[in-house]
Amino acid sequence: MASAYDKPLPIASNPTLTKPFWEATQKEELLVPRCNTCSVLFFYPREVCPKCLSMDLGWQKASGLGKVHSYTKVKQAAHPSFQSADGHIYAIIQLNEGMKIPSNIVGIDADDVKIDMDVIAVFEKVTDEVTLVKFKPL
Ligand SMILES: [Zn+2]
Repeated sequence: MASAYDKPLPIASNPTLTKPFWEATQKEELLVPRCNTCSVLFFYPREVCPKCLSMDLGWQKASGLGKVHSYTKVKQAAHPSFQSADGHIYAIIQLNEGMKIPSNIVGIDADDVKIDMDVIAVFEKVTDEVTLVKFKPL
């Protein structure tokens, strides 16, 4: 139930910058920033293109498909609300579009996760305003 979510939310320091990302997740779409000058796709959202320093940026829908670049099973959570008996899987996912995104892997035991495993984005609505992007095995 969305109202029962008691974990800290990933509220951006610049909510205007990331607003399109969060609006898209509510529609279960994954957007990534795109430079309108040099066409590079990147993540995380920022005000300047990391390749050409252009400030003419937009958004592009990503496939939601990727591979596990790295992961760890978190047994000692940084915040008490994330602590659970089973732990959770923190991962860096390399999207098929090329950039890496930090997230969680769900729907699988950590012992069964493999590097380069194919994953797909799933969306977890945790409040009326925030829908998180996580990944599950494809
Ligand atoms: Zn650029």
